[in-house]
Amino acid sequence: MAKALEYNATVTERIDLTDALTVFRITPDKAPEQKPWFVPGQYCVLGMNNEAVPALGSVRRSMSIASAPEDDGPVEFYIRWVAKPESENPLTHLLWKLKTGDRMYMRAVAAGVFTVKDTIGNDDPRLRIMVAAGTGSAPFVSMVRSELRRNPNADLSRWVLLHGASYPADLGYRDELARMVEVNKLKYWGTVSRPKEAPEWRGDAGRVESFFEGARLDDLEKRLGLAPGGFHPKSCVIFICGLTGTITGTITPLFDRGFVPDFKRIREALGVPADIKDSVFYEQYDTEPVINIKDPSVVEPLKERMQAGLARLATYE
Ligand SMILES: Cc1cc2nc3c(=O)[nH]c(=O)nc-3n(C[C@H](O)[C@H](O)[C@H](O)COP(=O)(O)OP(=O)(O)OC[C@H]3O[C@@H](n4cnc5c(N)ncnc54)[C@H](O)[C@@H]3O)c2cc1C
Repeated sequence: MAKALEYNATVTERIDLTDALTVFRITPDKAPEQKPWFVPGQYCVLGMNNEAVPALGSVRRSMSIASAPEDDGPVEFYIRWVAKPESENPLTHLLWKLKTGDRMYMRAVAAGVFTVKDTIGNDDPRLRIMVAAGTGSAPFVSMVRSELRRNPNADLSRWVLLHGASYPADLGYRDELARMVEVNKLKYWGTVSRPKEAPEWRGDAGRVESFFEGARLDDLEKRLGLAPGGFHPKSCVIFICGLTGTITGTITPLFDRGFVPDFKRIREALGVPADIKDSVFYEQYDTEPVINIKDPSVVEPLKERMQAGLARLATYE
């Protein structure tokens, strides 16, 4: 049983977008000494003691930070209530009982390298294609917010956010992002996978990864102002955040265009030469393998696609 946590933070606000999606604003008792104390894209650890069933002890989980490092005040998290938890003491079920003013644990130390600085570097001129399903948009919201905190008139035309959810109401931060589209030239498209249940929805339909399949990729190229076939690692870099299905579904069609995931064992399994740079970076919220590299029937066809994609990569201008 995990040791009891000493609470050191307060829920300043909770905004319930739906029954299962909530923005939590949390204030640590002691503001981190260093400012800024994190880089957009990083996460920190939240925790709770199970007071209703003390025998279950405490639970801690990583959560991406959705606020910008330049923000004063509470730290923001965008969290989904997990319907089918794996553990017997799921954190999200304890968080959902909290109300404003309640106490909890927050380790105000940021971790992770899913940041622009640690992946491509801040000066990389390519389009930044950010792919998220559900609460996977949190690190990307932090990234674009941070740009605007530093310059409210920042040009976000290099930033492309593709956000997938089941229903329109699940597309958190939609209004804020829409303003960035209008004012800062952010490129943002929400897509819903159950459009029949939302007849008023006029946006894209399907899972977010379907943007990269066949004719949909041709359409995305047009929207981004790229020439046919122009969506490749010399013009774009991909960031994905969320559960395995989104990551696997996005990287697989992109092998055909020569995109290489930043994951050593997948690179090796697909025979990517060491001198070819990574062009897909991901933050995974669960622990399923993205590609079962131990299964030759999975790896062999993907290896062929990757090798053909790499041959094409050499021809891109
Ligand atoms: C670096 C990192 C950052 C994360 N950031 C966030 C975040 O910003 N917001 C967030 O909601 N979650 C985030 N997660 C997931 C989070 O850490 C927990 O796994 C999740 O909240 C479930 O915890 P639990 O204790 O309630 O359930 P557990 O008993 O731990 O159940 C875990 C199960 O939940 C599934 N799961 C995990 N996350 C989700 C999700 N978002 N939607 C649906 N199913 C999920 C997993 O596949 C697994 O089956 C992050 C995970 C990592 C590794």
